[in-house]
Amino acid sequence: MAETFTFQAEIQQLLDILVHSLYTERDIFLRELISNASDALNRAQFEQLTNRDMLDPDVELVVRIRPDENAGTLTISDSGIGMTRDDLVNNLGVIARSGAKAFLQKLQESSGSASVLQDVIGQFGVGFYSVFMVADKVRVVSRSHNADELAYAWESTGGSTFTLELAERDRRGTDVIVYLKDDAKDYLQPWKLKDIIRRHSDYIAFPIYVGDDAEPTNKQTAIWRQDPKEVTPEQYTDFYKMLTLDWEAPLHRLHIRADVPLQFYALLYIPAGAERNMLSLRTEPGLKLYARKVLIQEYSTDLLPDYLQFVQGVVDSEDLPLNVSRESVQANRIMVNLKKTITGRVLADLKRLAQKNRDEYLKIYAAFGRFIKQGVAVSPVDRTDIEPLLFFNSTRSENPDQLFSLDEYVERLAANQEDIYYVMADDFYTASRSPHLDAFRQRGVEVLYFTDPVDAFMLMGLPDYKGRKLRNVDEADIDLSSVGAVTGDDTPAHDPLPDEPFTALRDRFAAVLGDRVRDVRASQTLTNSPARLVSAEDGAARNLFRVNRLLDRDVELPVKILELNPRHPLMHNLSSILAGQPDNPLVNVVVEQVFETALLQDGIHPDPASMADRLTLLMQAATGTPASDLDVKP
Ligand code: ADP
Repeated sequence: MAETFTFQAEIQQLLDILVHSLYTERDIFLRELISNASDALNRAQFEQLTNRDMLDPDVELVVRIRPDENAGTLTISDSGIGMTRDDLVNNLGVIARSGAKAFLQKLQESSGSASVLQDVIGQFGVGFYSVFMVADKVRVVSRSHNADELAYAWESTGGSTFTLELAERDRRGTDVIVYLKDDAKDYLQPWKLKDIIRRHSDYIAFPIYVGDDAEPTNKQTAIWRQDPKEVTPEQYTDFYKMLTLDWEAPLHRLHIRADVPLQFYALLYIPAGAERNMLSLRTEPGLKLYARKVLIQEYSTDLLPDYLQFVQGVVDSEDLPLNVSRESVQANRIMVNLKKTITGRVLADLKRLAQKNRDEYLKIYAAFGRFIKQGVAVSPVDRTDIEPLLFFNSTRSENPDQLFSLDEYVERLAANQEDIYYVMADDFYTASRSPHLDAFRQRGVEVLYFTDPVDAFMLMGLPDYKGRKLRNVDEADIDLSSVGAVTGDDTPAHDPLPDEPFTALRDRFAAVLGDRVRDVRASQTLTNSPARLVSAEDGAARNLFRVNRLLDRDVELPVKILELNPRHPLMHNLSSILAGQPDNPLVNVVVEQVFETALLQDGIHPDPASMADRLTLLMQAATGTPASDLDVKP
């Protein structure tokens, strides 16, 4: 007696769409079923190494695809790990798949471009259901590798239910019997099946036979073991797409065949984009780990440090013992050495690329630079290998696309310049307009722009470079008087305010801003800007604010020293108003705005929109409203 089950709600929805509305690119159903078969074979292979109690321990690991003209069915059989009764119920219908929901969501967002989605259905972890694009009915007969289990048959027409009953199957494995729709009968033709297999499943590691063929249709090439000279760029890209289910070609690849000190093969790729990498490529980070062509781990995160987890690919070791359990792989000494070697190779390869083909490298840096920069902070042992991979904008160029390495900066140091200077800001344009740069520009000293939120984090691991301190231009005690040379005309346009009026002005700033500033004082360096905020603390404490903000922690605004430019016309104007009409409400409004503008210029204003009311008030004053009529809030 067959038992009836109801599909989980989202799977029902998914099926409805697959059965009724998606019609193009139906070929991919075969790729999905073969991929499931291959996974099942991989797991069986692994069990065979470690568990002699399994059913049919010596059976050949293959996929066979049999079309049956008379019955109008296509059967995909594998000698893989098989499914128990519970597996069938859970895996094929009852357990909610997060992928189903994500897939439906994507479908909704991109109404009309369903063909793109079919291409990616596999990566949502709902590949099996794609069979309902071509099937009226599907019957899955499976017997688990667990010798105590009986064979069961799962059956569904793609409606809201499926049934389950006892079945006959002597050997371990799974048959997926596809009852082809009338308009899908061409999938009974062997040439068509072979064509699809060669296109989509050529690299599957197990032989795939069509009909009674004695020769497998797929080449089963472990491409990573081939001589790179024999692999075409197209084959490399195809393999990448098959591995990651990414539909875009990778930015870069690295094919390693190493003999000493470890013997291993690795084929590594850098995907085209970071977002996709996170969301929808292989469902987890990690490299595919093989030991002598046997898949040991689908997602091994122990082969690369965390900051390089954006790298995708395959590692195949000759040295790992085959009988290691999945759990003990991690602790294995060979793994530790593999990780060290592979990390070193990846970093060296990126360095070579950065030097030989900077444009190519900068594409990678644009997508994954954040991870690379994090490496400086989290992986001090790799620091010297990562340093050549760092690139920044600087005062040297007005073009935001032009980036410079730390070495290039050091080669261009100004006369007597000991330290490396950087400015922190929210973006390129804010940085380039920073008031801190006045003095540096005047003396021809280059300043790097640190505009990425992770730069503050990176700095925790990069206090210096080749013995030169990295210093924030907002440090209070930077003295440039003997560094570089003054370029252009350095006669200031205005005289400084005399001591007495300046002190009065200073005192007003201090009174209005209270404990929002540590001190108010005259600047020795500002030329074009009226004011700036400088830090008295040392580097680490100063960056903490930005790091905490990056981590979304609630943080208090750092309290800094406000430097005023005694030569600036604004200070002159303020000073005269203060002398003539000390109660003019505009003075305090301007004081507030000078302070907040400085916060904004450093990219640390907590709420820039809050300045709008004050700016309106100032515009009113500038356009003629008498100060006494302004609606100034105390
Ligand atoms: P995915 O393969 O991405 O997990 P599917 O919807 O294609 O999603 O398959 C669901 C699950 O059903 C698989 O994870 C696997 O556990 C099981 N399964 C599917 N096909 C087979 C098969 N041929 N042999 C054993 N298990 C299978």
